Amino acid sequence: MKDIKPNDIENNIPLATQRGPKNVVEVRGRQFGGKDLAIVAGPCTVESRTQIRDIAEQIKEGGANFIRGGVFKPLTFPYGDPLKKQDSDGKSTFGDYEGATLPYDEMFKRAEERLSYFAEVGREFDLPVVSEILYAETREMMEKYVDVFQVGCRHMFNCDLMKALEDTDKPVMLKRHPGTSLRDLLGVVEHLKARGKDDVVVCERGIVTPYTHDPNARWITDVQAIAALNEFAPTIPVLFDPSHATFKRSYSNPMSRAAVAAGADGLMVEVHNDPENAWIDPLNAIDGKEFAKMVKQVRHIAEVVDRGQ
Ligand code: PEP
Ligand code: MN
Repeated sequence: MKDIKPNDIENNIPLATQRGPKNVVEVRGRQFGGKDLAIVAGPCTVESRTQIRDIAEQIKEGGANFIRGGVFKPLTFPYGDPLKKQDSDGKSTFGDYEGATLPYDEMFKRAEERLSYFAEVGREFDLPVVSEILYAETREMMEKYVDVFQVGCRHMFNCDLMKALEDTDKPVMLKRHPGTSLRDLLGVVEHLKARGKDDVVVCERGIVTPYTHDPNARWITDVQAIAALNEFAPTIPVLFDPSHATFKRSYSNPMSRAAVAAGADGLMVEVHNDPENAWIDPLNAIDGKEFAKMVKQVRHIAEVVDRGQ
């Protein structure tokens, strides 16, 4: 474990560890690091217009202020590519093809189709759209539709992607890889800031320890990282993702409550209109009802801990 040392603060990560109030990141009237908690919710994968619209309606009602959804999925294994599946609207049946995964040009085309109706739904419900970028060459295409670029945990060291994101005027939400130290995460923030990219938000999404696997959970929630980031990097908004941190539906709310109590500036949580049948991550998605309960509870906790005071 590489701790953050005074030498790092002075010489390696001076911009990431600047002292001062939160650098509030504004997106279409919503904020990361502002007085209100940023609540980003939505499915792991945008599956169809009907699905994303239903979810948008539920999360809006439940108190979300951003919507999330992936159109490219990193996936641990290539099988089960969400873009291979049939759109439940029945409009975009993509048909069969050979091989484990789609050719890239086909994948990009289908991703754009999904992003375009995702963006329409985001506008309809006044929820800024957060979506993960996986391929640097898709940045310009994605910019037409997304409000915030999510960088998945597998990509925090992807120089090509970071280079592509230095020049976007959309904020970047950077997820911490489960095997990295906070020093390494802040090193990536430093790379972005040193090149003038200032609207960066980080997201804690669970770490690896030897005792976290089935039947309990895939990762473990590092609540302490939230306090540490607020101490060492006080200007950078910090989100918490309970869904990937735990990989277990029933832990999503309790860990979110813990994270907000520890000082998280918001949550990014997977919510689905039919959680058990979600294309990807059916084990961790919660439904709209549970989401609404969670939001009520975490907002209450935020008040108790004097958030934004
Ligand atoms: C996600 O948020 O959709 C995701 C894939 O998360 P992570 O990069 O943290 O695994
Ligand atoms: Mn997921």
